[in-house]
Amino acid sequence: MNTLAAVLILHAHAHISPVNPIPTIYTQQTSKKSLNVLKLYPDNTYNFCRYRTNKIQRDTGTYQGKRKQLKFTSTERGQAFNPVAKKTVYRGKKGIYLKTTKGIFGGTPDFFIAKNADCLKKPWNFNQITQKLEDNIAQEKSKIPSTSHSETAINAAKRYFLNTTSNYARGYNTILESNYAGPGIYSTHIDGKLVPWNQDTSDAALFSELNTVVHESVHLNNINHYVIVPGIAITVNRTETCRSSEFSIIVPKDLPQQIFRWGTYVSKGSTASSNISGIYGLMDEFSAYMNGTRASLMAAAKLLSEGNYAKADIQLDHASRTYFALYEFRLFTAWYLHYTHQNRRDIYDKIMENNNLRLTFTLIDNEFEKIIGYANRMCINGNCNAWKNYSERFSKYADPCTKELIREEKWLSEFRLQGATQQNYRDYLTTGLTASN
Ligand SMILES: [Zn+2]
Repeated sequence: MNTLAAVLILHAHAHISPVNPIPTIYTQQTSKKSLNVLKLYPDNTYNFCRYRTNKIQRDTGTYQGKRKQLKFTSTERGQAFNPVAKKTVYRGKKGIYLKTTKGIFGGTPDFFIAKNADCLKKPWNFNQITQKLEDNIAQEKSKIPSTSHSETAINAAKRYFLNTTSNYARGYNTILESNYAGPGIYSTHIDGKLVPWNQDTSDAALFSELNTVVHESVHLNNINHYVIVPGIAITVNRTETCRSSEFSIIVPKDLPQQIFRWGTYVSKGSTASSNISGIYGLMDEFSAYMNGTRASLMAAAKLLSEGNYAKADIQLDHASRTYFALYEFRLFTAWYLHYTHQNRRDIYDKIMENNNLRLTFTLIDNEFEKIIGYANRMCINGNCNAWKNYSERFSKYADPCTKELIREEKWLSEFRLQGATQQNYRDYLTTGLTASN
């Protein structure tokens, strides 16, 4: 499994997300100023783009095939420009053929040619004709204020994210102002290998980091309390814990390998605070994942409303890699409660007496559910299928958790404070403790 991880330097926190699968790429040059690029992903989805000097048209969908015969079905509405939609074609080593006999004999493809050039691996909104990102013009307008030469890249990035959050994910600028963790403050690992930050502070490089920056900054803000959403934080006193990995004895044997975030967060020997600090560490990640995903979805909604589909797409892509953490951390929390109830009753009883912890879980849980529902509706009502396509790509990680949660949900039902909302949460706070903003 390919994994992208951001690790907060000096803190036992991490933010991990799956890397998108690698496609096989085919091109069709229709003229000097028009290039069609077809990407076939191993999960049977496709991405088609028609590049022209002045615009990019895009279509996405699925393909099915018996042996080497493929049939394409678009999931977008009315893509008349797409030559592969509804077609049955033949896939060979050199490319894609319209004529089956040509395909069988492996001649020069009469439809699309297999290409492996590096520039084709760039995101779809990189215009292959002009060699520029589609939203380059928009970027120039919204360039961060000029920076003096002495300013470090870390500070330039910080200013970029303060600016980006105040424009696209309002409220998160206040979180970043109080405690900021951005590129250069966290380290990035791909498949376990440290990838040093290249200090690129361009919009193209930083915009896709929004989810991670909010996630890691929320961790820094979660030192004395838990962030629910910007403006609401709840102080929680910690009681005795055991390691989360102890609950593995009640977990069905085949499940850990199906849960994307199991290894990093709750496996035996994990040094993450979600393992070491038990339910209090789990709550920290629950808060960070929800807020990172929320910031990405807020930015996507704003960009969609402005008609900037290319940039909205970047945020939807990233939100799709973290939304299923909701189900993972709900399940980890349920297992923690279930396990301690049966085996560490002293720990369980103290947790159930910890009103503010239960309030924290309830409010984050409600909000996470709300934003996923919102994302689903946003793309039904709007004219974008991006969220549907992206979130389905990773539903294989959500499904095993939601299935197991049917059995474990009762632990969460008992743990949740019924009726608590962001509007009335003050009434639920334990006397003597105050909510802080
Ligand atoms: Zn984290």
